Amino acid sequence: MRTQYRPTTAVVDLEAIRHNAGQLKPSSAELLAVVKANGYGHGDVAVARAALEGGATWIGVALVEEGARLREAGIDAPILMLSQFPPGSERDALGIGLTPTVYTDEGATAVARAAATLRAEGLTDGPCRVHVKVDTGMHRVGVFPPENLIAFCERARDEGLEVDGLWTHFARSEDSADTTKQQLDLFVSLTTALGEVGITPRYRHAANSGATVLYPETHLDIVRPGLSLYGLPPLPAVAAHLDLRPALSWRSAVSFVKHLPAGEAVSYGLQYRLAKDAWIATVPVGYADGYSRRMSGRAHVLIGGKRYPVAGSITMDQLLVDCGDDRIEPGSEVALIGRQGEGEITAQDLADWSGTVTYEVLCAISERVPREYLHS
Ligand SMILES: *Cc1c(COP(=O)(O)O)cnc(C)c1O
Repeated sequence: MRTQYRPTTAVVDLEAIRHNAGQLKPSSAELLAVVKANGYGHGDVAVARAALEGGATWIGVALVEEGARLREAGIDAPILMLSQFPPGSERDALGIGLTPTVYTDEGATAVARAAATLRAEGLTDGPCRVHVKVDTGMHRVGVFPPENLIAFCERARDEGLEVDGLWTHFARSEDSADTTKQQLDLFVSLTTALGEVGITPRYRHAANSGATVLYPETHLDIVRPGLSLYGLPPLPAVAAHLDLRPALSWRSAVSFVKHLPAGEAVSYGLQYRLAKDAWIATVPVGYADGYSRRMSGRAHVLIGGKRYPVAGSITMDQLLVDCGDDRIEPGSEVALIGRQGEGEITAQDLADWSGTVTYEVLCAISERVPREYLHS
């Protein structure tokens, strides 16, 4: 058996990832490549390798499971967990060398205990290095209120943890310079205050994509871009600042074609009625692949470099395209995201059609869609 018969594929250009990593890596700071959620749908192992080749020295993940997958694939770069280890996972997570983020007393104690156990078993040596996250305004996770930071870090130190990193996360880096500056100023003042009690983390970091691209003063010791590593600006306005190349294109091919007379209607609900005779093409991709049903009535695809509307409801496995007078051949390539001839459809287009952000469009491309890698 082959692993793929259906011609629906997400094509990921790893040279674009290397290029984007090179664009994003500041000369004065390290680059942490965020590859959570299967590398924003691109495939975490392949993206992590390409990002490291392109100049990244750190990898960031949201889950212990994601870190474990990268380790199993042989990636030995430092991997930072972007939130605290879930209770009970500390020993396994430290055992595979994931760098913990901590921000609660319980979390820090659990990491310290797990580190002591591993040390007693001779499985690790040296200090247990952690990154402390402080909440400077986004209010998702992190030490809060920020005035608690110094006492928190002192307790962590007393438990035998080495505060090797201190970090925070911006809530509005792509659209509010004021909020970002307030958060940065608070963060910088906290690092100074920490220094006064003798805690000087080697790595201070804050910048996600928006901040990395727009505000060099946020770069500090490490930048942590995700979306822009994949070649997408966090907001269209950010696009002009760097030469970023979208790494992912989403392709399929026409599976069936028919000519229908005016007055006929297509797909579930028969809501899309033809005003004139038209060639209707069927494409084997649907909402089970992450091509959101919410885009019905708005989405377009490219065939032969030309933009055509998706006709009627997007179904689970298939969608229909109104090709008007153009007689399309079965087997013709269809671009769902990407360039074709003179045409281009972006992840931002899909985000606009479905009322969401590009992040969700990318993560939504389901496991059913095979990923194909160029320039690996
Ligand atoms: C996801 C994430 C990032 C990357 O954000 P982008 O907007 O994709 O650049 C950076 N830091 C943390 C803590 C994150 O959760």
